[in-house]
Amino acid sequence: MPARACHVRKSGLITDDKMESIVMANPHPTTPDTMPATELVDTLPDGTKVKRRLLRMRACNEKDAKGKLCAGHLKRWYFFGDEVKRKFGENAEIYRCEHCKTLYLPNPDEAPRTGTLAY
Ligand SMILES: [Zn+2]
Repeated sequence: MPARACHVRKSGLITDDKMESIVMANPHPTTPDTMPATELVDTLPDGTKVKRRLLRMRACNEKDAKGKLCAGHLKRWYFFGDEVKRKFGENAEIYRCEHCKTLYLPNPDEAPRTGTLAY
């Protein structure tokens, strides 16, 4: 009887060790929480949101009160007012969602010729 109890205890310990090392090696499998979020840069006095586009982003990712994705097209927009000019420059590169009117700034990683390398 004592021999059998010893055997059970030993194998149980080995299994626990294995389980622990697997968990430690992969603490976070893919979770939806790690999705990149669109950075909110500013909110204009009239309530218009100004966000920064994600790489290769072509559609708006704003959500309405019910959590439904806007998915409107982002189009280059030139008709911004003085508020936007003052904040982002006279010739700022601005995109606007044609659906919810949220403004988007270009992603810096997407525009290699913005002058950072020009002397
Ligand atoms: Zn939108």
